[in-house]
Amino acid sequence: MRLKNVPGSREVIAESEFVIHDEQKQKGKWKNIFGNENEIHIEIGMGKGKFIYEMARRNPGINYIGIEKYSSVLLRAVQKMQQEPLPNLKFIRMDAEEIAEVFAENEVDKIYLNFSDPWPKDRHAKRRLPSKEFLARYNQFLKKDGFLEFKTDNRGLFDFAVEQLPEAGWKAKAVTYDLHHNEEMVAGNVMTEYEEKFSSMGNPICKYIIYR
Ligand code: SAM
Repeated sequence: MRLKNVPGSREVIAESEFVIHDEQKQKGKWKNIFGNENEIHIEIGMGKGKFIYEMARRNPGINYIGIEKYSSVLLRAVQKMQQEPLPNLKFIRMDAEEIAEVFAENEVDKIYLNFSDPWPKDRHAKRRLPSKEFLARYNQFLKKDGFLEFKTDNRGLFDFAVEQLPEAGWKAKAVTYDLHHNEEMVAGNVMTEYEEKFSSMGNPICKYIIYR
């Protein structure tokens, strides 16, 4: 994500009703935020929120939470909600390193990672969102029979993500190295902003669905 500081974005985020500000205090109580018992699905590193907004629009019976580190990027998702609000979508501005402080055991039914930052240097491997260190965090709050779905066009990052699974105690339910030509896995696929950009350049999209 190319980052431009957007003046005023922090203030807009701070005042937005679509952003949950005391996220650590909501641990174990996210159903109250939505006022129902529906499943909770989260996207970590959602960028401008194109994917999660469309998922929430298509699936009103599921609650969605989009997590993004930067206000300047999250601002775009908030603006979309200002134009056309959805009751089943909320956002958190935070670094996902703290995510296990935000959700309680079994509180999340599904996790999406889309086009996560690759952090190409070996010494930064722990910062990659599909790393074994992050899988250990997700393990603390993803429902026991829940799934995590990861898409990327970055083959190096994807190979790394697949290699992490046995060590982290996760298993693959499905893997493809060319999602858009995999009839079964592409059914119902909602494209992310990065997916549109990179697939239009001819890059194949890798995807896995994993569980423990
Ligand atoms: N998921 C979107 C898509 O597919 O179009 C955006 C992809 S963009 C390459 C990755 C996004 O993840 C960026 O907006 C970045 O700020 C966010 N991100 C990266 N590491 C993060 C972290 N530790 N916590 C929260 N957000 C993070």
